[in-house]
Amino acid sequence: MGMQAALHLLYPPQCISCGEAVTSDFGLCGTCWRETPFIAGLVCDRCGVPLPGGEPDETALCDDCMTIARPWGQGRAALMYRDNARRLVLALKHGDRMDLARPAGVWLHRAAQPILRPGMLVVPVPLHWSRLFRRRYNQAALLSKAVAGLSSLEHCPDALIRSRHTGTQDGRTRDGRFANVTDAFKVPAKRAPLVEDRDILLVDDVMTSGATFAAATEALYQANARSVCILALARVAKDG
Ligand SMILES: [Zn+2]
Ligand SMILES: [Zn+2]
Repeated sequence: MGMQAALHLLYPPQCISCGEAVTSDFGLCGTCWRETPFIAGLVCDRCGVPLPGGEPDETALCDDCMTIARPWGQGRAALMYRDNARRLVLALKHGDRMDLARPAGVWLHRAAQPILRPGMLVVPVPLHWSRLFRRRYNQAALLSKAVAGLSSLEHCPDALIRSRHTGTQDGRTRDGRFANVTDAFKVPAKRAPLVEDRDILLVDDVMTSGATFAAATEALYQANARSVCILALARVAKDG
């Protein structure tokens, strides 16, 4: 009996969402899979939100990305932030479900295929140290590490830091969200050589207005990054 088979006798694989028995590790059962809104088909090239019609290889932008400043180049998301995807994102963020980073990394890796470039540096959106202390881990850094590993790209969890405490983005208007995070990030001096003239893949768990991604992108450009693409586990729909 192989090691894998022996482990399955001890720990039968379970659905990562509901705990139901499944046939392979780190998978969703059929019911949870159907309730998890994976993004497929034609998407906005800047934020990854699904768009109606069109060919999947067409380059298109959503209404938001045509009207709101998006300093980064391309962007993708793996899931829409609703139903079971919302539950999984919240479990990763607040529920000590660090194990979810592994399957989420696979979904992110798949969604990121059109925007990955050789030599990219993978960087998470940072938490402020005080929130990191309370939460013990940065869920965005777990995701960026998983994506970097699957893509064979270099990962730097502290290429960006929060230069000031911003409080939560929850409950703010779109303009309020943008104002709240202006100049909130910087590349620390010790990481400047790593970022300079580099293509960056910036990773976060959720994209709502895009304000956080925009502020983090500006900080990377201030440190002379060559290009920035963004990748979110889940995209909040405008009217969702
Ligand atoms: Zn399930
Ligand atoms: Zn968009």
